[in-house]
Amino acid sequence: MNVKPPLTLEQYLGELDKLDVSFDRERVKKAYLFAMKAHEGQLRNSGEEYIVHPISVSLILAELRLDEDTIIAGLLHDVLEDTPYEYDAIANEFGASIAEIVDGVTKIERIKYESKEIQQAENFRKMLLAMSEDLRVILVKLADRLHNMRTLRFKPGPSRIATSDETLEIYVPIAHRLGIFRMKWEMEDLAFRYKEPDKYEELVNKVDMKRREREKEISSMMEDISVQLDEMKIPHTISGRPKNLYSIYKKMTFKNLAFEEIHDILAIRVIVKEFEQCYSVLGLIHSRYKPMPGRFKDYIAMPKPNMYQSLHTTVLSENGQTFEVQIRTEEMHQVAEYGVAAHWKYKAKQRGEQVSGGTDFNWIEQMMEWQRDLENPAEFIDSVKMDLYNTHVYVFTPRGNVIELPDGSTPVDFAYKIHTDIGNNCVGAKVNGRIVPLNYQLKLGDMVEILTSKASQGPSRDWLLFVQSSQARNKIKNFFKKANILENIEKGKEMLEKELRKYNLNLKNAFPDPVMKDLSSKLTIKSLDQLFSSIGYGGISLRQVIPTIREHLIEKDDQLRMIRSPKASRAEGGVVVEGMDDMLVRFAKCCNPIPGDQIIGFITRGSGVTIHRSDCTNFSKKSEEFNRFIDVEWNEAQPIAHTAKIKVIGHDRPGLLGDVTAALSALKISIRGLSAKVNNDQMASLMLDFDVHNLEELDRAMKQLKNIKSIMEVHRL
Ligand code: MN
Repeated sequence: MNVKPPLTLEQYLGELDKLDVSFDRERVKKAYLFAMKAHEGQLRNSGEEYIVHPISVSLILAELRLDEDTIIAGLLHDVLEDTPYEYDAIANEFGASIAEIVDGVTKIERIKYESKEIQQAENFRKMLLAMSEDLRVILVKLADRLHNMRTLRFKPGPSRIATSDETLEIYVPIAHRLGIFRMKWEMEDLAFRYKEPDKYEELVNKVDMKRREREKEISSMMEDISVQLDEMKIPHTISGRPKNLYSIYKKMTFKNLAFEEIHDILAIRVIVKEFEQCYSVLGLIHSRYKPMPGRFKDYIAMPKPNMYQSLHTTVLSENGQTFEVQIRTEEMHQVAEYGVAAHWKYKAKQRGEQVSGGTDFNWIEQMMEWQRDLENPAEFIDSVKMDLYNTHVYVFTPRGNVIELPDGSTPVDFAYKIHTDIGNNCVGAKVNGRIVPLNYQLKLGDMVEILTSKASQGPSRDWLLFVQSSQARNKIKNFFKKANILENIEKGKEMLEKELRKYNLNLKNAFPDPVMKDLSSKLTIKSLDQLFSSIGYGGISLRQVIPTIREHLIEKDDQLRMIRSPKASRAEGGVVVEGMDDMLVRFAKCCNPIPGDQIIGFITRGSGVTIHRSDCTNFSKKSEEFNRFIDVEWNEAQPIAHTAKIKVIGHDRPGLLGDVTAALSALKISIRGLSAKVNNDQMASLMLDFDVHNLEELDRAMKQLKNIKSIMEVHRL
């Protein structure tokens, strides 16, 4: 293998000199030598000396035009992690500011977690914290990751995929949000290359072909624009280049398009000096090439939250090909490439002081605030991702204030952005004066008015299917969490039960201690009810629960035997017998008690306790055996299904039986037995056995049955 030696001190300083950064030579020299000594003898997977990595990270940071402290922190970033030197050593030599940055980077790295999901969430959390303290920590971390991605080929195959996934999941969104597109694109393309080498190759070739195919067209367009701009005496630089590969790939997979169907693979970029000139250039281009309607975007008047500014338009060439044109000033271009880094200039040693004004990063604080309400890591990660990935749409309040929302947002997102109460009481919306459905997708410049009613029943669960902002999502979930705990528990149970049935399990036997222990550490839940209610309001999905249950109960043979054994079914009564654990319980066939019924136990010789309804007629006949009665109670912590017997009477008609079974299956009730008789007067009587969990469910079912046409009577046997 061809192993290159690290840059010498002179070469390294020479590289820095090529970049437009100012630094104290002696201090940087000292840091170089310090890092060199600290990492002495260490090698990377590539066989290179370890110091190659910190030097490269430091140069990436210098390319971002960051301050001297950050460049030095780049050199030292792995010293705490990988060498015997400690915080004080760095602080003494280089000051607390640099030591803090290195310490921050090390902390992000150091934490190891049990599950991948928790790890991701925790990494996010750490990074957000780090960012809200000193953004330079995250910039060093991003540079570190970028260099590791560049040299990923030296790592073994599986860890390449894992690192690429993590890069796409965590680092790319952060680079995006910080507006550092140069890093974002490079990381994306590298991750894409390692994850899908074949598709990557294929796309590289196709883009290359396309570019050559259209080279002539693009250069004649560029020349035409350039000549006109010279005439208008507007100094400019103009370039034509393909977009980054991963964004093309994402578009193809996301929208299920063939490469040939992607239009904006090539973009022309015009960079001018003054901001007014951007609009002159736009005017010129629109007068010479036909613009595609709806494709013009003015990010100068309305910058993206990551500070990106540019004019975008898509035009048709003479041959009818579409080209995207981006127009911006040099300064805007710097921001577009380097994002927050372009704005992030420090006076030496004045840590945390931001020189360039107008940068608004309170989204970091906002995110930290929301996450306090969120209970489990997966929920947190979802909401952060939602905010990081989305591009934004800007709309107006009736008073003309601008509201920023993620792309695809609806009036409901808007309502929650204004105020929680407005969201909760929202009953309708007007956009530009017209009533629209609540799932209407807001467009740039829409004027939105929310109609509220005090009589509203609160948000609808369906809103969760279309809201785009994590704010709205979290507030809706919170509403259900707080307002409807019981309802959520029921709903969660129902959802779980249905799923568990597939594995021949039920709520009662699916959560033995080991399963609960595992679940509570993975999902940070404290009780079964909390689990049920989280499932009910959508905070935890079945996908997060079922695999754990399966792992414990289905994929282990002896466990399987245990839960199916008669011994286990002994506790299946769902009732508590006073003063006795582990009592064999059965339910009387004469009255079929259901949770909620008043019940009483009757001790039978040799076969435990039989549970009857208190008002069971069959049972009261035996009252001479009074001393064999025993108090029993429903065990509400472990509800299980019980069979109810119902008689339905009504005029016979075609379709009656179908209507009855449909009504029950609409309630997700499964029928155990059914018999039907029709007498000479065309009166039908149906006997139904079906499973319910409690009286409420039974009542609901009976009401539904009563509503069926031609049914006259429904009663329990
Ligand atoms: Mn590193």
